This record gives sequence, structure tokens and C-alpha cells, in this order.
Amino acid sequence: MFKEEREETMFNWGMIGNLAEGRPNLGPTMDVTVYRLMQFTLRDAIIQEFGVAAADRLFYRAGELAGRELFRTVITQKTDFAAFVQELKDALSALKIGILRIEKSDLEKMEFTLTVAEDLDCSGLPVCDETVCTYDEGFISGLLLEFSGRKVEVKEVDCWCSGDRVCRFEVRPAA
Ligand SMILES: [Zn+2]
Repeated sequence: MFKEEREETMFNWGMIGNLAEGRPNLGPTMDVTVYRLMQFTLRDAIIQEFGVAAADRLFYRAGELAGRELFRTVITQKTDFAAFVQELKDALSALKIGILRIEKSDLEKMEFTLTVAEDLDCSGLPVCDETVCTYDEGFISGLLLEFSGRKVEVKEVDCWCSGDRVCRFEVRPAA
């Protein structure tokens, strides 16, 4: 699981385990505080050890893995774009990750603008002039890679942290 060295990802959805069996009293949900506590302390430790650029790279990569695995495991609409987007919106809302909206979409060019409101990673954080949702950037790229088979670059252009009410992501084909 985590004690094996690896060159390639070994993550799969099954590693999340059987929550009904494991948490019969507490159930599958928890406070957003705990998610942020985990993510932000981990990010802080990685920045201390390896620097900001490496931390961003790792968070993007981890988010991408999560997006790919969510697509494979949770999403059933894998060919029709509109049906995929609808199912994804429902899933992100049910999992309480955020409220997804597509502002612009060009599937041919693989160019999209999308927003996430009430984002799990940043909504409510102190404003600090940074866009911080690097994990989400990777997450979106992973979802679109699995749907389309094409590699994209996702950049957050507005964030709660940079003073906006929603996170806004620009998607472009990877160079
Ligand atoms: Zn954000």
C-alpha cells in the first residue's frame, strides 16, 4: 500500500476501503476542517522540504490521479459530453467537493472555462492574492484526460483566495 517503492502510480479506488464496515457509527463523511487540516499541513511540510514549485507539481499530479480514478470508478457517462458533465456536476455536489458550472466549452479545441463555487479547497480562506487550488487544477485535467484521451493544461485564474467568490479554471490542450 504505502511501504512499497514505486515508479508508477499504485493508487486505486479500492484503497479507500469499505467505509460502511470500518465506520459503522461515524459514517463516510467528516468536517471540511479535517480535510483542510490534512491538505494544508501536508502542503506546508512539502514546501518546507522541497519548495513551492515541487509542492505545486506534486499537488497537481495527485489531483490528476484523483480525477482519473474518479472518472474510472464513479462516472458512468463516458462518451456523451453533456451527459458526462451532468453526471460530474451531480457527483461533485453529492461528494460535497463543489458546485461545478461550465462557462465556455469547445470540445473540438479542448478549450473550456469552468467555475467551482463553494470549493472544498479554498472557499472561505483568507484573501492572500494567490490562486491556491492546484489540486483542483490537476483533478480537472485528470477527468478530461480520461474522458477525451487528450492531455490538457488547467490553470486556475480566479480563486476565493485571490478575492473572487468562485474558482475559475481555464483549460487548454497541453503543449
Ligand atoms: Zn480556488
